[in-house]
Amino acid sequence: MTSQPIHGSEQVRQSRSVERLVAGKPTSDGAGVKLTRVLTQPLQRRLDPFLMLDAFASDNPDDYIGGFPDHPHRGFETVTYMIAGRMQHRDSAGHEGLLENGGVQWMTAGRGVIHSEIPQQEAGVMEGFQLWLNLPAGDKMSAPWYRDFAAADLPRFDTDAGVAVTVIAGESHGVAGAVTREATAPLYLDLHLPAGTRFCQTLPAEHNAFVYVYRGEVRIGGETLPASRMAILANEAAADGVVIEAAGEARALLIAGRPLNEPIAQYGPFVMNTDQEIYQALNDFRDGRLA
Ligand code: FE
Repeated sequence: MTSQPIHGSEQVRQSRSVERLVAGKPTSDGAGVKLTRVLTQPLQRRLDPFLMLDAFASDNPDDYIGGFPDHPHRGFETVTYMIAGRMQHRDSAGHEGLLENGGVQWMTAGRGVIHSEIPQQEAGVMEGFQLWLNLPAGDKMSAPWYRDFAAADLPRFDTDAGVAVTVIAGESHGVAGAVTREATAPLYLDLHLPAGTRFCQTLPAEHNAFVYVYRGEVRIGGETLPASRMAILANEAAADGVVIEAAGEARALLIAGRPLNEPIAQYGPFVMNTDQEIYQALNDFRDGRLA
């Protein structure tokens, strides 16, 4: 898709401020894939409807080669954004896809899928993100859904200032994203900011929002956000959005959504509302009824 300059850009009168900077936790998952868990379980309530954000970036194949062999999910959605690298997806609902350079895979686990995510490279850089988005109680047992978007299929535009914006979900400057969800209205933007530019995005005050910088650094409300850090944006009644400024070249994710305000019960790859539903998920998985 051709990038087009957008006129009549979004106006933000007052930017949200940074409530807190988060460094994330180095960990490993799957078959020894090294990653940083940026959005960890203790932040799920604060960043409702988002449950997890993992960042992975390595040019050492030992850090990623094992991938994520068959494992189950129930009760939420996974959004994988591959900056660089090739990963093969297969799931029990019969979906299969190759995720590569700039592509997005959106999977709604719903009542259950068993899937694998296996690297299709033995060397080179593997870099990307996996975001978990919760489902409202009424949709947790819905049918699984899956879609792959190649980089060229993702909606993209340039602001007048020259900021390149990929709209993975939601809407920005009148451009609709690849995916929309009614209950949580997720916004997921990848921003490439040239040196000396600023980007404005309106946000409903009650929506929870955060920014993760993966190249360079940005400034929000006078505070500097360095690379590999997440800024949780304050929910301020007077603020109508966020203004992100880059003195040097920077890249960042801006993610926001409407909180569900429902109980969260998580056990590993299952996220439901009650412990009883978690036991049910474990039983269903053990008895082969999950997928
Ligand atoms: Fe998974």
